[in-house]
Amino acid sequence: MSSCADSHVNFHVLTLFPEMVSQGLSASVTGRAFEKGIISLETINIRDYTLSKHKKVDDYPYGGGAGMLMQAQPVYDAFRATVDRINESGGDGEKAKVIYVTPQGRCFRQDMAKEFAGERDLIFLCGHYEGIDERVLEEVVTDYVSIGDYVLTGGELPAMVMIDAISRLVPKVLSNEASAEFETFHDNLLEYPQYSRPAVWHEREVPEVLRSGDHEKVRLWRRKQAMLRTLQRRPDMFREEDFMGSKPDRRLLAEVQEEFRAWRASMEEESPL
Ligand code: SAM
Repeated sequence: MSSCADSHVNFHVLTLFPEMVSQGLSASVTGRAFEKGIISLETINIRDYTLSKHKKVDDYPYGGGAGMLMQAQPVYDAFRATVDRINESGGDGEKAKVIYVTPQGRCFRQDMAKEFAGERDLIFLCGHYEGIDERVLEEVVTDYVSIGDYVLTGGELPAMVMIDAISRLVPKVLSNEASAEFETFHDNLLEYPQYSRPAVWHEREVPEVLRSGDHEKVRLWRRKQAMLRTLQRRPDMFREEDFMGSKPDRRLLAEVQEEFRAWRASMEEESPL
């Protein structure tokens, strides 16, 4: 993993639809981070690199079948130009990760986002149509990453999803770094429920403990709610052994397990099989 003193991450996106990516990321948190120079975005239009007279970038797949395939040459030349620019800017383009966003990849997760947030340069390759000629993928791609088990028309939205998730883990992108540290997926837990003013809304009251001003009680309540919520909504994420290390955690675990059993029984009563 390369490192950069100010934790700056430079995103380079190879795409046939550069405006989609630059416009999509120009608003809100990522937009402000680009303006401040904490992260940067370069979109590279693959079509600019085609040697075809008619600016063609796709062709029929050998062996037949539906749809068109992006050709190797423009993708490769766009990639090489990007590597050269990274080298000129003081990076190591040859070593930069090249992420092909594809439904055939490993599923993108928070821990992956965290790992990518430590890179100086990340190159994203967005496919379109039926995908990209396999030979150029074999030559340039280091990581095959999917955003989920469904097929989209192009890789632009997946690249934007990943860039957004990675960006907010780069120091100084969020105004309060702690807000990324303690949210959903931290410690294999979903985030606890949150409330803002007013204290009563639609006859629903904010839990008393959150208004008590007792920081330790608030911390324990939040941890317990995070555990309970994870068991209820994402039992696949919950690992009992994570709460065996300390006495307070073991006590919390016992309480949570009891509440979870009661909750499950009430759900079964509500909708018996
Ligand atoms: N024929 C390809 C296949 O069956 O694997 C799908 C091609 S898809 C229509 C076009 C492009 O969208 C892909 O090359 C990829 O870059 C992107 N894409 C589609 N679904 C995706 C997903 N779930 N995650 C990441 N990228 C995706």
